[in-house]
Amino acid sequence: MTRPRQPSEALQRYALGLSRERLLAPAAKGSGARRAALLRKLAAAGVKGWPKHLTLFTKSLPMGCRPCLRGRGSNLVMTLKCNRDCFFCFNPKPRTAEMSVHGRSVRSLKEGVELLAGLGVKSVGISGGEPLLEKRKVLALARALRRRFGRSLRIDLYTNGDLLSLPVLRSLKAAGVSGLRLNLAANGYDPAPAASASGVFKDVEVEIPMIPEDKGRVLALLGQLEELGCRHLILHELFASAANAARMEGRRAHGRRAALTWSGVAGSEEAALEVLLAALRAKRKISVYYCSTGTQSWIARRARG
Ligand code: SF4
Repeated sequence: MTRPRQPSEALQRYALGLSRERLLAPAAKGSGARRAALLRKLAAAGVKGWPKHLTLFTKSLPMGCRPCLRGRGSNLVMTLKCNRDCFFCFNPKPRTAEMSVHGRSVRSLKEGVELLAGLGVKSVGISGGEPLLEKRKVLALARALRRRFGRSLRIDLYTNGDLLSLPVLRSLKAAGVSGLRLNLAANGYDPAPAASASGVFKDVEVEIPMIPEDKGRVLALLGQLEELGCRHLILHELFASAANAARMEGRRAHGRRAALTWSGVAGSEEAALEVLLAALRAKRKISVYYCSTGTQSWIARRARG
């Protein structure tokens, strides 16, 4: 007898969000004008990207984001389990060991690799939950992806960094992982995992949600990451979805509706734009990339063709 499939993680994360679309209070007056003024300052300071989609960067785009922006990127969620419980986490609860590709539930790594091959992807993120809770499977997947796609595929591992050690970093590299995406908002912006990873990987990138009240801490982290030789700080717009709605209560929507089933949180976009502006004005070598809810809906439209 075949086991019935669980609703995929994407279905839980996004489709259930439909019923909660208006979970945030309306946007505060004046936020649109503030955003427009910041965009003008960024243009004058030489920001790159696609302002129309709120997809902006200061120097260069991360390698893994380039195919993704063309609709040629995907991810494999290794597990939804995690050793942390961040308030902004959008993964549904209870956190299961379910594996999925591009939001479709898969039962084996082999099935996952074949699904990715069918999608014709050029970059893959191995994510979670915390994927390193399944370290052996991560290594097996990276090897299988390298065998199937060769060197041309970009493989990034998304991790909160808690479980990284020198032997783990070395084995990830040997298995074919191209680079790391560290969510250091999970550990309160401690750059220690980036410091150890940069001894092994050339591409160590930090990817965090832009929590408006943490702007000062993010700016401090930016300087530390530059000193470590990290190439990119990737800022996501903080958003509320069905999974994290209760813990986002009290925050406001940003007032610009993206074609998505989650809502950007007011102040996050402005804070991200201010970090970009500060990086440009300080002539930072590290590139800051802002991936907004506007970017996400743009990518989703491109992936649908
Ligand atoms: S570390 Fe990542 S997966 Fe884990 S709870 Fe935080 S945001 Fe969610």
